[in-house]
Amino acid sequence: MLDDALPAPIAALKTLVGPGGWSDDPARMAPKLEEWRGRWRGTTPLLLLPRSTEEIARIVRHCAAEGIALTPQGGNTGLVGGQIPDGEVLLSLERMNAIRDVAPLDDVIVIEAGVTLIEVQDAAAKADRFFPLSLASEGSATIGGLISTNAGGTAVLRYGTMRDLVLGVEAVLPDGSVFQGLKRLRKDNTGYDLKQLLIGAEGTLGVVTAAALKLFPVMRGRAVAMVGLKSPAASIHLLAQAKAQSGGGVEAFELISRAGIAFALKNMPDIRDPLETVHPWYVLIDIASAEPGGAAAAMERLLASALDAELIDDAVLAQSEAQAKALWKIREDQSAAQKPEGATWKHDVSVPVSQVPIFLERATSAAQAFAPGCRVVAFGHVGDGNIHYDVLQPIEGQDGSRDRAALGVAHSALRDEGSRLIHDIVAELGGSISAEHGLGVMKSAEALRYKSPEAVAIMRAIRAAFDPPKIMNPRVLF
Ligand SMILES: Cc1cc2nc3c(=O)[nH]c(=O)nc-3n(C[C@H](O)[C@H](O)[C@H](O)COP(=O)(O)OP(=O)(O)OC[C@H]3O[C@@H](n4cnc5c(N)ncnc54)[C@H](O)[C@@H]3O)c2cc1C
Repeated sequence: MLDDALPAPIAALKTLVGPGGWSDDPARMAPKLEEWRGRWRGTTPLLLLPRSTEEIARIVRHCAAEGIALTPQGGNTGLVGGQIPDGEVLLSLERMNAIRDVAPLDDVIVIEAGVTLIEVQDAAAKADRFFPLSLASEGSATIGGLISTNAGGTAVLRYGTMRDLVLGVEAVLPDGSVFQGLKRLRKDNTGYDLKQLLIGAEGTLGVVTAAALKLFPVMRGRAVAMVGLKSPAASIHLLAQAKAQSGGGVEAFELISRAGIAFALKNMPDIRDPLETVHPWYVLIDIASAEPGGAAAAMERLLASALDAELIDDAVLAQSEAQAKALWKIREDQSAAQKPEGATWKHDVSVPVSQVPIFLERATSAAQAFAPGCRVVAFGHVGDGNIHYDVLQPIEGQDGSRDRAALGVAHSALRDEGSRLIHDIVAELGGSISAEHGLGVMKSAEALRYKSPEAVAIMRAIRAAFDPPKIMNPRVLF
């Protein structure tokens, strides 16, 4: 029986999946139609919840034949709105959640796309291996979403982005055929590496259904420290020293401004000021080593030499797992701590590492000139040149010449104008306007200003070759 309320081609999708494979119950669909910050709210005629690659292939083949647009969704933690449908059929990977194989001798795990990052980390640990990708959304973000956004996170410095961690991909292409690319090979020079096209494609070139990921040895030694310093320039020199002295053992190197620490202290529970005195900038450093005591020894050497050289002014070295977690919590709470402070323009940008101090100085001057009284919170993966550069609305009564709502959601045109100033500076420094979150619906049009016409033409040609009717995530990319 087909459903009268839906157009017949969409209602027919219900017959292509097994029991529990679809829903049009508003309560079941609601959490999947809203982004976690409430920034995007979507609509869909139907939620599909397939359980196998074969079911997804049937769905996509039907959609291609009928010209029905699809939005794939994993954990709904994306920050650029690409996972929220605007009238498209919503294809959730939540029931594609099997761990198909863990092969310690190959250092490989094979999982389905709906498995969460934390489940992959746990499965690797059970096999005495380590999966290094780590980000604050790891309890919900799925492997399909992480691959489709080429996620980064805190350990990119040592292990690279998702692109570096994927050995093979299985995917349903936009015509409904299945790309069987689940190889476990470290070397395979047989022409174009097609899986790399699907990584970072944000759901535009197909539905990722499974992946083979690299595993690594478990690091037995770990040392976590927070240092206080005068400037971002000092942090760049400290980074070079940390890399050299630890033999490549630096896993994370996260810059946080005092404003970010202050908001965490004010707005988040269980946060303590990490150092006795206040500093303009802080860096969280995580060093790991194969031998249990190796990381702590390397960290102590680094802190002593940096204090001697006056690169840093103070430091605290975590003495227990609980202290390490408390230091990391300050970093992980940076986004949430801004929420009670009002409207924000957020930027996820990257520049060459050496240019980070110049970027911060120029961007802050530009933001202050545009919106006097605004509050800048800059933090992030400075070891990768990736800064989350957030500009918060002025405090009432301190807003200079512009309307204080200039930064508010209601005045998005002004917010976009302000963001463009930041993006222009990024472009002048040879950077990227989206370092790790992708373009989604939020930045696709903006990216056209900064990508070369040649690059855009190639991307459009690739998409047209995969998906001539453009049914896959049609509002994302170009
Ligand atoms: C608190 C917080 C911290 C974060 N920190 C980081 C960080 O440090 N680094 C970072 O890179 N990101 C970070 N993110 C962003 C987000 O977690 C990542 O973009 C993640 O990769 C999204 O995974 P997901 O499963 O939630 O995907 P979704 O949000 O569901 O989807 C993201 C995109 O991928 C597509 N997609 C999803 N699954 C598939 C699939 N199986 N096949 C094809 N396309 C698919 C969607 O259509 C959409 O375009 C953070 C997010 C939050 C909320």
